[in-house]
Amino acid sequence: MSAETPAIAPARQPLLSLDEALERLLSTVQPLGETETLSPFEALGRVLAAEVRSQLDVPPHDNSAMDGYALRLADLPADGTVLPVSQRVPAGSVPMALEPGTAARIFTGAPVPAGADAVQMQEHCETVAGDGLGAVRVVDRPAPGAAIRRRGEDVQAGSVVLAAGHRLDPAALGLAATVGAASLTVARRVRVALFSTGDELAMPGEPLKPGAIYNSNRFTLRGLLQQLGCEVEDLGIVPDTLDATRAALRTAAARADLILTSGGVSVGEEDHLRPAVQAEGQLDLWQMAIKPGKPLAFGAVRRPGQDGRQAWFIGLPGNPVSSFVTFLLAVRPVILRLQGAAVLAPQAYPLRADFDWLKADKRREFLRARLNAAGGLELFANQGSGVLSSAVWGDGLVDVPPGTPIRSGDTVRFIPFSALQ
Ligand code: AMP
Ligand code: MG
Repeated sequence: MSAETPAIAPARQPLLSLDEALERLLSTVQPLGETETLSPFEALGRVLAAEVRSQLDVPPHDNSAMDGYALRLADLPADGTVLPVSQRVPAGSVPMALEPGTAARIFTGAPVPAGADAVQMQEHCETVAGDGLGAVRVVDRPAPGAAIRRRGEDVQAGSVVLAAGHRLDPAALGLAATVGAASLTVARRVRVALFSTGDELAMPGEPLKPGAIYNSNRFTLRGLLQQLGCEVEDLGIVPDTLDATRAALRTAAARADLILTSGGVSVGEEDHLRPAVQAEGQLDLWQMAIKPGKPLAFGAVRRPGQDGRQAWFIGLPGNPVSSFVTFLLAVRPVILRLQGAAVLAPQAYPLRADFDWLKADKRREFLRARLNAAGGLELFANQGSGVLSSAVWGDGLVDVPPGTPIRSGDTVRFIPFSALQ
C-alpha cells in the first residue's frame, strides 16, 4: 500500500431504513439556487423557481360553451318561442348588448352579449327563415346560465396559478400560457456526471468476450436522468482500478453538481469506488434495508481549484434492478431537491394484491408488479435484482414493509412508475 492509500471506511456500515437514508440525504443536499428565464417552449420538465401569478381572469369574459343562441330568459315565456336573430357572434368578436326580444347567433368561445342570461345549443333550436339574420324557434327553454362559461371560473386575476417548486408538465405549461406568461423562471439544469464501473462491461456494438456482459445501467440511468431534466455528462465505463476511478472522479467533479456511478460499491477487493471517493473527498457507505438495493454510497468529491466547493457523489449498486430501484427511491428525490422541487415523494396508491408473497424478508421490498384488468396487481415471476425484464414488464413497485407476508386479497401500497418520472 502506498502512503497515499486512504483510510478504509469503518467495517460496520450503518443499516438504515430508506426513510432514514432519505432524511440524511435531503437534509444535506440543498437546492442549487441558480435560475434561468426560459420561454415556455423550452421549459418542459423544468422546476419553477418563481411562482406564476395571473394578471387576468380566465376566461377573460363570459363566453359560450356551445354553438347556439344567446337569449334573455324573460323573452321566452314557453318552449317553442320564436325570436328574431339580431346579431351574429363568432369567437374572437366583440358583441353588442342583446336587444330585448331577440336572440344572438353565437359560437363556442365567443363572448356572451351583455343582457343574455343563457345559451341554448343549436340542437335544441330550429332556424326560421326571414329578413336579415332570420329568426330562431327555441324548442326547449334552457335553464338560467346554461352553456355560459363564466369570466374567471378557471383563474381569478391576482391568484397564483403555479407555485415555485412546481415541475412543469404539459398541462402546467398550458396553464402558464393561459395567463399570458411569455417567460418562466426555472432552476437551471442539474449537471450529472455518470459512469459505470466494471471490467466485465462491454458496450452494445462491441463483440461480447467470454465473461463479459453488456452495460445496461448506462442506458437506464442516463434515461432516468434525462427524464428528470438533467444535463448528463456521460463518462462511460471506468476500469476497475483505483487510479482510473480517482481520475474519473476528478474529471466528473470539475463538470458536475452530482456524480452518479453504478457498481463497485460493495466491499469486494475489486470495488475501488470507496477508497477512490475517500481519497478525492469524503464518503459514507450505507446499507439501506431495502431489496433490491442495499449498498448506497453517498459523499462528495472536491472540485479542483474551485474554492472548496464539492460535487455530490452517489454510488449505486451494479445489479441492474438494484440501481434502477435505488435511483427511483433515493437519487430522484436528491435531484428534485437540487432543482428546488416542492414535491419529492412519489404518490402511492392502495391496491389489491392478486398474488401471494410469503417470503417476508427482513428488508423493505419493492416488487415489480403490473396492474391487471380486474384492478388488482400481479407480480413478475422472477424478482431477482439482475432481472431487468421485470422493470419493463411492470407498471410500478409494490412497497412491502419488512417482515410482512402478503396474501392474495390484501391491500398493498403501489407506486406506479408514472409517479417516479
Ligand atoms: P457490483 O456492484 O460491481 O459488484 O456489480 C453487481 C452485479 O451487477 C454484477 O453482476 C455486475 O456484473 C452487474 N453490473 C455492474 N454494473 C453493471 C452495468 N453497468 N450494467 C449491467 N450490469 C452491471
Ligand atoms: Mg463491479
